[in-house]
Amino acid sequence: MEQDIQHYIAQLNEAQRAPAIHKDGALMVIAGAGSGKTRVLTYRIAYLMSQGVDSFNILALTFTNKAAREMKKRIADIVGGSEAKNLWMGTFHSIFAKILRFEADKLGYPSNFTIYDTQDSERLIRSIIKEMQLDKDIYKYKQVRSRISSFKNNLITVRAYFNNSDLVEADAMAKRPRMGEIYQEYVERCFKAGAMDFDDLLLRTNELLNRFPDVLAKYQNRFRYILVDEYQDTNHSQYLIVKALADRFQNICVVGDDSQSIYAFRGANINNILNFQKDYENVEMYRLEQNYRSTRNIVEAANSVIEQNKTRIDKVVWTANEPGGQIKVNRSATDGEEGRFVASSIFETKMREQLHNGDFAILYRTNAQSRAMEDALRKRDIPYRIYGGLSFYQRKEIKDVLAYLRLIVNPKDEESLKRVINYPARGIGQTTIDKLVVAAKHYGRSMFEVMENISKIDLKINSGTKNKLENFTTMVKSFQIMSEGANAFELTAHVTKTTGLVQELKKDGTPEGIARIENIEELLNGIKDFVEGQEDVVDATGALAEFLEDVALATDMDNDKGDDDRVALMTIHLAKGLEFPYVYIVGMEEDLFPSGMSMNTRSDLEEERRLFYVALTRAEKQAYLTYTQSRYRWGKLVDAEPSRFIEEIDEKYLDYITPVDSYRYKPLIDNDIFGEVDKSKLRLQKPKTGRPPVVGSPSAEQIRKLRKIKPSSSDSPPSPSLFDGDLAPGTKVEHTRFGRGEILKVDGVGADRKAEIRFQVGGIKKLLLRFAKLKVL
Ligand code: ATP
Ligand code: MG
Repeated sequence: MEQDIQHYIAQLNEAQRAPAIHKDGALMVIAGAGSGKTRVLTYRIAYLMSQGVDSFNILALTFTNKAAREMKKRIADIVGGSEAKNLWMGTFHSIFAKILRFEADKLGYPSNFTIYDTQDSERLIRSIIKEMQLDKDIYKYKQVRSRISSFKNNLITVRAYFNNSDLVEADAMAKRPRMGEIYQEYVERCFKAGAMDFDDLLLRTNELLNRFPDVLAKYQNRFRYILVDEYQDTNHSQYLIVKALADRFQNICVVGDDSQSIYAFRGANINNILNFQKDYENVEMYRLEQNYRSTRNIVEAANSVIEQNKTRIDKVVWTANEPGGQIKVNRSATDGEEGRFVASSIFETKMREQLHNGDFAILYRTNAQSRAMEDALRKRDIPYRIYGGLSFYQRKEIKDVLAYLRLIVNPKDEESLKRVINYPARGIGQTTIDKLVVAAKHYGRSMFEVMENISKIDLKINSGTKNKLENFTTMVKSFQIMSEGANAFELTAHVTKTTGLVQELKKDGTPEGIARIENIEELLNGIKDFVEGQEDVVDATGALAEFLEDVALATDMDNDKGDDDRVALMTIHLAKGLEFPYVYIVGMEEDLFPSGMSMNTRSDLEEERRLFYVALTRAEKQAYLTYTQSRYRWGKLVDAEPSRFIEEIDEKYLDYITPVDSYRYKPLIDNDIFGEVDKSKLRLQKPKTGRPPVVGSPSAEQIRKLRKIKPSSSDSPPSPSLFDGDLAPGTKVEHTRFGRGEILKVDGVGADRKAEIRFQVGGIKKLLLRFAKLKVL
């Protein structure tokens, strides 16, 4: 082990090694993007274990569960899998949800509490606003939810709210004087439903640690070593949890980059980094300066951007990597054209360099921008995955099934009950549901309990409807009984049939309906996998509860099982900590990025700039910035201006390109790969000296010249190397990189024409003929 660990520690540079092998006490690593902060954290955990620290005593908090999984895997490689399994490693939310389950009774919660996701919370808030008969244009449920969320993240309880005249007045000024009442009702309803929302997972953990010193002592003793990645984006609630837990041993290691703090809008507090040295005794500070991720051009361009922020800790970031290509800047007429540019560029680069789809990422400022990208990728048959937005578990049919399952595990769960009580339709109308809600409130019971006693309460519900309610209650109870014997997979399959869910979709018969059934099947597969992966399943309810917890906490990143090869599409916020060889940052326009809402104050604008810094530093080899001249915003076509962030980059790092890279690709293309490009607009934005702008189509003479180029001439531009006559399957060819092979198949037309070739070494490859430098043998 000792020898092993030395071998691994040798994979760090000197500056990284110091914090990795620092043993006790508080330490902080502040360093720029790609300098190995996450790597230091990972190796440090392995190192601690090699020095005899028990893996059960280590708590590591990461930004996504995916990051935690990857870290665990890496550590398992170093110290062995079985020990790595014992590490407490995950996001704040997932770790503290687990702890809250153990301790739930102390807070008056059932241990099988439900976790409300954002949509559940919004639904509940919407219905409270309706019940209170408030104007929904003033009390916008999304705004109300985010306000409640900010109260919770700052540990402002309902009582604290009412005692804080500043807050009360602020809401009154904003014409929302009843905010406090909504907050109160929301908290009570969640509690009664045995549900915690995301913010509760932190708030209640704080409550637990504050109110129960013995519980605090227990976890302080357990987590003797605490490590936090992306510390710059912790909010107040998270900060207090870490502080409480680390207070006894002070073995706390945080890593972060103030220049990548991008969650202030959600309550992240940069002061957590700035005050760290005051919070703990004898803090050791470490700095890392060498970037291992990106080319020199990218690193220096990113530096030139972030230097324009006034509020920042001065840092040096340099790299020994190659200079690499300049950052490519592309202008399109519309977002449709922008999408086509990106899709074509990915397609061509992939073919030319023999890359995977997973080597490419498209990053945008707002979720809505994904649609144009998706459309273009689909047209080109390029598989992609959207992170964020509607993930699998947020699709309607999946949420319907999950709502039934949640109800089985926790019948008090009001949002789930409301979701499925009349789906599929069973004649239970909104008026009846409203009556149940009122009665539940009146008796201080859950809706389900009211339904169980429906025959004893006079709710002025007619007997027909009463019957329907009773049938529904009986059905749910029968599921609960079944859950004690059957496994979670069987139970779920039974539920989807018995409730009529699948039947309903079959009746629908449309392609969408069929896709929905497939999704439900996929969910069943997922549950099956989950059940089989659990060694210690006791019964279906236990397994289901765990499964549902996983699902509720699945940040959208976690849907990535990494098992198939797709282009990644996500907002910049979600891309933090990740890296991709090729990165396209799209929608580089004023009012979009920087966002129009951020232009009022310097600090908002600086947060946008940090966001741009994060985006740019995700790229390893090549970054693209694209913008359009007009774009649909709020339903109107508006003129767009290039983002100021493009201009903030020193021009020597930029390469302005036209939509059509060069005539080289054009001659043999019979279908215009860029769609309806307005050729008159194919001008360079900023012509560069020494690089003649290439405009429009080549002349016949140029084409003839090109056709004469010998297919095997290696350094020439991607050339029309073969003509159809030469391409019969069976033809023997030679490729400059892959050597000799035999053509198996040719398909596609024009620019997309590809050949499948079996090479003697390296197996079968699909090559785009426009680029493949093939010689017929
Ligand atoms: P971010 O600020 O974006 O989260 P980071 O500081 O956490 O970045 P890492 O993700 O740890 O940086 O490292 C960036 C890349 O550089 C990774 O691919 C990592 O494996 C690699 N790397 C880091 N340090 C070294 C090293 N000493 N030798 C080789 N590769 C390294
Ligand atoms: Mg990192």
